[in-house]
Amino acid sequence: MIQKILIANRGEIAVRIIRSCRELGIVTVAVYSDADRCALHVLYADEAWHIGPSPSIESYLNMGNIIRAARESGADAIHPGYGFLSENPDFPKHCEEAGIIFIGPSPHAISTMGDKIRARKTMMEARVPVVPGTDKAISSEQEAVDVIDKIGLPVMIKASAGGGGKGMRLVKDKAGITPALRAARSEAKTAFGNDAVFIEKYIESPHHIEFQILADKHGNVVHLFERECSVQRRHQKIIEETPSPILTKERRHQMGEAAVAAARAVNYEGAGTIEFIVDKDLNYYFLEMNTRLQVEHPITERVVGVDLVKEQIHIANGLPLTYRQDELKQQGHAIECRVYAEDPQNNFMPAPGRVTHIDIPYGVGVRVDGSIYEGFEVPLYYDPLIAKLIVWGKDRTEALERSRRALQEFKITGVKNNLRFLERIIQAKGFVEGDYTTHFIDENEDILMKDEACDQHCEDIVMISALMEYLRKIQKASPKEMTALKNNWKDYSRVRSVLKL
Ligand code: ADP
Repeated sequence: MIQKILIANRGEIAVRIIRSCRELGIVTVAVYSDADRCALHVLYADEAWHIGPSPSIESYLNMGNIIRAARESGADAIHPGYGFLSENPDFPKHCEEAGIIFIGPSPHAISTMGDKIRARKTMMEARVPVVPGTDKAISSEQEAVDVIDKIGLPVMIKASAGGGGKGMRLVKDKAGITPALRAARSEAKTAFGNDAVFIEKYIESPHHIEFQILADKHGNVVHLFERECSVQRRHQKIIEETPSPILTKERRHQMGEAAVAAARAVNYEGAGTIEFIVDKDLNYYFLEMNTRLQVEHPITERVVGVDLVKEQIHIANGLPLTYRQDELKQQGHAIECRVYAEDPQNNFMPAPGRVTHIDIPYGVGVRVDGSIYEGFEVPLYYDPLIAKLIVWGKDRTEALERSRRALQEFKITGVKNNLRFLERIIQAKGFVEGDYTTHFIDENEDILMKDEACDQHCEDIVMISALMEYLRKIQKASPKEMTALKNNWKDYSRVRSVLKL
């Protein structure tokens, strides 16, 4: 049985994994880069190992350093979290060579699903519906034109190695084919080192609905129902909920079975997610499989009543699942809001900086998974996700009311963030009515952005009072303390600029 786990990740997901390990009595090892010396996961784990400089390529993506840390710390397993090395098929291979258990699927499952063209082919063979389109890479502009003549416009040109919405272009008319093909290829080459692209029919006004699955090493596969992830900005999710407001019981059942078939087709082991795109008539098509734990997994945990990290560890220990499909039920409704250190006023650009104050919401049905604390410096090197608010209610109405209440109570100062933007989404008519597609944010930009400047002003007032406090400290400080405070140049220069000193 696994006794000690190294978490090859950072931020909220590393903290979240450590929590489950602690409940299981498993010793935890954190890894950290230069920028993360004082990060919460480092402070929270039983042990912490330095794995390199701040850029992820030299630390969180450095397999050699991570495996070395696992060996030297005596960890018998590695949990990859999400992002970073979690979907790199070489990582489980290296773990195996080092005699360390990788908590996740086989390299074969990761590489089949990581290549979107291969995944589409595999799904077609398993009779899982895929979006109409090509089943091989596009080799020339003429081939693209021929394919588009056959399936009709509009289409999406997508990178086979794609992820994070990169290497994806919408083509609405014939004149757009060549520039879109070139742009998708070059973006894919830069982001993934692979310029293979394919063509897929563009589904108008779609929903993104995904199914959580769990599979053990004994051939048992179950699904844990769906997550509706249609609130997206630049093809990236920001709010997710379960159950989906649009699925019928029958369609949920069919999609769940398709998800299980998809996992079986690659002999999947562990926790994974099958993403579908769903049109207005509830026709569903396989989009891709994420062969790891997802950011939005807690809403499933809340509604189905499982701890997915514990399930992953249970499966990695070689144990069979302890329930059958017909024993799993959805109870109530859960919503997750992703809190980012970003500037809604400046095109949602990441906004690193020092957190000066946080008010975390508490109370019935509220869970916050986060990685920040007062005084923590959000680094500029990594994804700006700093917390997730997960709220449960007995039904969708209660989950919405509770999310609104919790978001109002949630305050972070010192770093710009999207909390007020999330609050407006939760209250927007289309969202409240459950009648929204992946275009929701673009279509409601006016309402969603309306009060941003005003909110920012309120936040500035809170920040100014914090800075006044700082100034008082400076005035009382001895010469030695004064030098120390001045060396903390960020706060010092902020005081000077805000107070026009
Ligand atoms: P990535 O792996 O880069 O995240 P996905 O294939 O998962 O890319 O797609 C991300 C999002 O892009 C989807 O949730 C959806 O909003 C949009 N999208 C992708 N493919 C299509 C399509 N064929 N038609 C319409 N929208 C699409």
